[in-house]
Amino acid sequence: MNKFAVATEVLKKALGEEAVRTDAEALFAASFDNTKLSFLPEAVVFPQDEAAIATLLKLANEHEVPVTVRGAGSGTTGAAAPVCGGWVLDLSRWTQCEIDADAGLAIVGPGVVTQAISDAARPHGLFYPPDPASVKYCTIGGNIATNAGGLRAAKYGVTRDYVVALEGFLPTGEKVRWGANVKKFVSGYNLRDLWVGAEGTLGIVTRASLRLAPVPEARHTFLCMFADDASGLRAAQALLRERINPSVLEFMDALSVRCALEEKGETISGIEAGDAVLLVEADGSRGELAAAIGKIRAWAERYARAFRETDLPDEAEKLWEIRRACSPAMFRLADSKLNEDIVVPIESYLPLFEAMRAVTRETGLQTPIFGHAADGNFHVHIMYNRGNAEERALAQEAIFRVMKAVVELGGVITGEHGIGLAKSPFLALQHTPAEIAAMKAVKKALDPKNILGRGKIFESFDVWKHTPVSVRLPWEHKKS
Ligand SMILES: Cc1cc2nc3c(=O)[nH]c(=O)nc-3n(C[C@H](O)[C@H](O)[C@H](O)COP(=O)(O)OP(=O)(O)OC[C@H]3O[C@@H](n4cnc5c(N)ncnc54)[C@H](O)[C@@H]3O)c2cc1C
Repeated sequence: MNKFAVATEVLKKALGEEAVRTDAEALFAASFDNTKLSFLPEAVVFPQDEAAIATLLKLANEHEVPVTVRGAGSGTTGAAAPVCGGWVLDLSRWTQCEIDADAGLAIVGPGVVTQAISDAARPHGLFYPPDPASVKYCTIGGNIATNAGGLRAAKYGVTRDYVVALEGFLPTGEKVRWGANVKKFVSGYNLRDLWVGAEGTLGIVTRASLRLAPVPEARHTFLCMFADDASGLRAAQALLRERINPSVLEFMDALSVRCALEEKGETISGIEAGDAVLLVEADGSRGELAAAIGKIRAWAERYARAFRETDLPDEAEKLWEIRRACSPAMFRLADSKLNEDIVVPIESYLPLFEAMRAVTRETGLQTPIFGHAADGNFHVHIMYNRGNAEERALAQEAIFRVMKAVVELGGVITGEHGIGLAKSPFLALQHTPAEIAAMKAVKKALDPKNILGRGKIFESFDVWKHTPVSVRLPWEHKKS
């Protein structure tokens, strides 16, 4: 019996057989996230209460068993995959969600699905603004650990902007609470914000207080078509200079749009092959909105080849169709994609685009781009055929070049997904040795035995040496 198996027997005695699963089905289900890189754990633990988590951490430290916290497993970097084995702590059943309408707060368990928070808040005229595209599947624990952002991040901000207080456990097993349910808090170091985005390596969140926002009175949607990619990107820059603060400003390059149109087999909202597209949305009170709509309309008349607009929810849904179609349609170009959530400053939009097209010219691999033009958080893709060794080697080289270009353009290698396993080879492109040493010192101070998220962020992982498992995930309607 290996030492993790011995420790697991002790854990079973402490928590009971029902809380500690070791059957093949449970182990496989907890072995991967959206990357489909699978590493089997020794056990999957479904704790009933906080005492069980404290016991698990005590035993993990005693026996030096790595612990990987898991929400919905929708992460895209392998952060929830137990790369070093050990125990997976599944908190997806911790779904408590209370709304304190007077305080404008949601008090939630880590396993609550993000969409459910807005659903519970809406009868009070409130909503939870961060809206990752996975909002119907991912958990708030995972959102906090990755500081998830979404389509409305440019106006409403990201998860960190809404986390008021966190409760949970240090890797060494002590219960802590960072922040309080008040509007101001400057007592001691802000370890609450340190936990946000730490990818489950510095602590386990068991309860969170989240700020809610009033539901906007109205919303208005524009779909704007541009003759080419550069015109669309310049128009996005021009709109941002208008200081309108749109809630959504999504760019789709002509290649992504072409794939979506071909997949559909007919035109979508009057878009023509060759068009680049911007989807623009503004929301707020009717008074605020009237001024914003006027400015956006004048901007569209000046820059767009054509545009459509609506304030009707059903019509808006149709204008969103192209955005939703882009991602799955890309597989018309090749059977696999590298999808990076990089961020560049506003002045670097066109140089980023050029850098991606240079990759295409030099490697022959297609590089469709879409994403959040309001905050420079573009999803850049490298399409390749997994079974083709030459294309795999080219994609591997190309992704390094893209990440290097992003950093040289003043950008960052990830704006939403985090580092996990998949982006660990790029960490040193972004951070100096002193910065990485400081991060490691924090990790060592809080987790001397390297229990939580062992093997993540700092240890370079070679994604190309692993073959993803073949499974259909709940959010996959098409091949992805
Ligand atoms: C189709 C699709 C669309 C997506 N769109 C977006 C997007 O628009 N924006 C975006 O930001 N991301 C997006 N993602 C990525 C993913 O949904 C987010 O990273 C999400 O925050 C992960 O939540 P999860 O519950 O699935 O976490 P998991 O994948 O289970 O875990 C992610 C990380 O959180 C840690 N963790 C989970 N729970 C806790 C806890 N209670 N305490 C401490 N650490 C914990 C894990 O250890 C791991 O490091 C998308 C993913 C998919 C599949």
